[in-house]
Amino acid sequence: MEQLSIVVPCYNEEEAIPIFYRETLKAVEPLKDELEVEFCFVDDGSRDGTLKSIKKLCEMDERVHFVSFSRNFGKEAGLYAGLQAASGDYVATMDVDLQDPPRLLPEMYRIIKDSVGKEDYDCVATRRVTRKGEPPIRSFFARLFYKMINRMSDTEIVDGARDYRFMSRKMVDAILQDQEYNRFTKGIYSWVGFRTKWLEFENVERSVGETKWSFWKLFLYSIDGILAYSTMPLSIASVLGIGFCGVSFIGMLVVILRALIFGDPVAGWPSLVTIIVFLGGIQLLCLGIIGLYIAKTYLETKRRPIYIVRERR
Ligand code: UDP
Ligand code: MG
Repeated sequence: MEQLSIVVPCYNEEEAIPIFYRETLKAVEPLKDELEVEFCFVDDGSRDGTLKSIKKLCEMDERVHFVSFSRNFGKEAGLYAGLQAASGDYVATMDVDLQDPPRLLPEMYRIIKDSVGKEDYDCVATRRVTRKGEPPIRSFFARLFYKMINRMSDTEIVDGARDYRFMSRKMVDAILQDQEYNRFTKGIYSWVGFRTKWLEFENVERSVGETKWSFWKLFLYSIDGILAYSTMPLSIASVLGIGFCGVSFIGMLVVILRALIFGDPVAGWPSLVTIIVFLGGIQLLCLGIIGLYIAKTYLETKRRPIYIVRERR
């Protein structure tokens, strides 16, 4: 029988875990003659009873495994650890808050099975078509981010794509080969390639608990995404530099000609100050952009482990 590993990163989700477990088992029930299921929970350094919650499931059900981190390493690290721990022929990655409806699992499995010899899908991915229940300002910036990153990067990042995926072993192994420290999983999925079938669903609100992503955290995450999959900000900095050189050259000619024709009355220092401040700003911005890339390179060259395990089963 084939095996499916369900990878679930959890951070402070003690209440959500039992609900998730119950609902997911219910959802995969129709597949019980074809698929064996195992759970790989990743406790991402939670401060509440998440680990206890997981251990309780472990006692009841030996198909439940877990990796517990020594501190919070972030969802990306959690996904990586979960994929490493998963041993199934297929791996599904899901959020624990039931925003990724488990009822889609059988459908995803069917799509991959039925495509053998035809489209040969290695992955079924999901995107939500609505953002109902989300603050409008958050949706606005999310849309803006997807527009920007897709214009700047060769790697396509689909708007509304969730980290809810059903993947074959081949694709999982490819993802595990990518051991970069600054992980932006949405990009990695697309970067490794393989044929992907997209399923769409309406946004579902969280079952219990609250979102772990503040606006600020999302903002920093979106910058990480752009830095990881595009070097266009560097080109923009260079183009700005060239542009300003051109403008200043024309300005110089104008000033020289004017002095030759009309003489040189001392005037215009306020405008000079504004121009200097403006250019100073642009210079700092460009330095900042370069600095961000250097910082990423710095962190990457340290080759720190992506996560540290405190306990596992
Ligand atoms: N999560 C995690 N580590 C973190 C933040 C979140 O493992 O540092 C997990 C969280 O427990 C959940 C999933 O990532 O299973 C998605 O988080 P959340 O629901 O808060 O994000 P949202 O759905 O609001 O984007
Ligand atoms: Mg959620």
